[in-house]
Amino acid sequence: MRRMKGALLTEPGQPLQIVDDLMIDAPRPGEALVRVTHCGICQSDVSIIDGKMPYPLPAVLGHEAAGEIVALGTPDDGFKAGDRVVLSMRAPCDECFHCRHDQPVLCEKSAAPPGVGEARLWRDGRPVTRGFQLGAFAEYALVSLRGLAPVPEALPSDQAAITGCAVQTAYGSVHNVARLTAGDSACVIGLGGIGLAELMTLRAAGAGAIAAVEPNASRREAARASGADCALAPDDPALSDRLMALTGGRGFDVVFDNVATTGTSDLALRLTRAGGKLVLVGVTGAPQPPGFSTMDLVLRQKTVTGAFLGNCHPRRDLPRIMEMAITGRMDLGALVTATLPFDDINEGLARFRRGEGVRTVLCL
Ligand SMILES: [Zn+2]
Ligand SMILES: [Zn+2]
Repeated sequence: MRRMKGALLTEPGQPLQIVDDLMIDAPRPGEALVRVTHCGICQSDVSIIDGKMPYPLPAVLGHEAAGEIVALGTPDDGFKAGDRVVLSMRAPCDECFHCRHDQPVLCEKSAAPPGVGEARLWRDGRPVTRGFQLGAFAEYALVSLRGLAPVPEALPSDQAAITGCAVQTAYGSVHNVARLTAGDSACVIGLGGIGLAELMTLRAAGAGAIAAVEPNASRREAARASGADCALAPDDPALSDRLMALTGGRGFDVVFDNVATTGTSDLALRLTRAGGKLVLVGVTGAPQPPGFSTMDLVLRQKTVTGAFLGNCHPRRDLPRIMEMAITGRMDLGALVTATLPFDDINEGLARFRRGEGVRTVLCL
């Protein structure tokens, strides 16, 4: 066991409490203890902290992290102490039903519901939930080696950290789920870290017309720099006409809805061409009934699919993403709009709620 500092959520709606008396288990065979150096703030963390998503408390959240291995449960050929790594909340076993069906994010061994399974983090002898099985708003995190990917020398750790959630979600939604081919037109609804990273992925993949819909003006500006041909506000009266005109009136081959509410899913399916694909990516607090008509699906043969974490396999996809970053095909630096000392985590959360910047990364 090791004593450490972390940000504890004890009650929804309250600020996180920085405490220094958390106890984390030693790594077991197949695991690493990672000293977290950087952790991004993600929508899911904020939804839980604000009480919009029920979660077993007390908990240490944080799931978009990079750090350095300090100890391994047993020696391993692939990793050693001192290696810089990205952490993924899904560590697929590669053996279960879903893993064998190329659905690594549904892995039966790593996709346990929150709070289920053995406790590995403690305070005053009582268990503390590790958010998304990582709990990276803390000095140390325990991670399965199957959920780690090495960070290339040339990539700064703050940029590597955001590949752990937002960027792998974006990359995988485009490649693993939409299976985009060069020339396909695409529309992205909602431009947080995921949406902007989707635009970069689409541009790098050689997509045809690329459009974005987003209420925040500075994010629409960022969209143009990230690869969008056109970025419009959702209340633009000419929205549908202008977007449909981009595709010759046919609609988009693929639409990514990163908000996934009743309202955005309705817009998203209307913008999807007959025979096209709508990918729902947003994780909402309260359940949202889809806003579209089943007849639009049936008569126009549209496909709707969900995408969680881009169906990414950390060992397969994270190295590809980081390679794109260091070869200049994906500008992760543009997504990390602020870094803050870990102790300022509540200020980072406040900025997220205000929609300031894209990704704030905490430095430990
Ligand atoms: Zn996340
Ligand atoms: Zn599995």
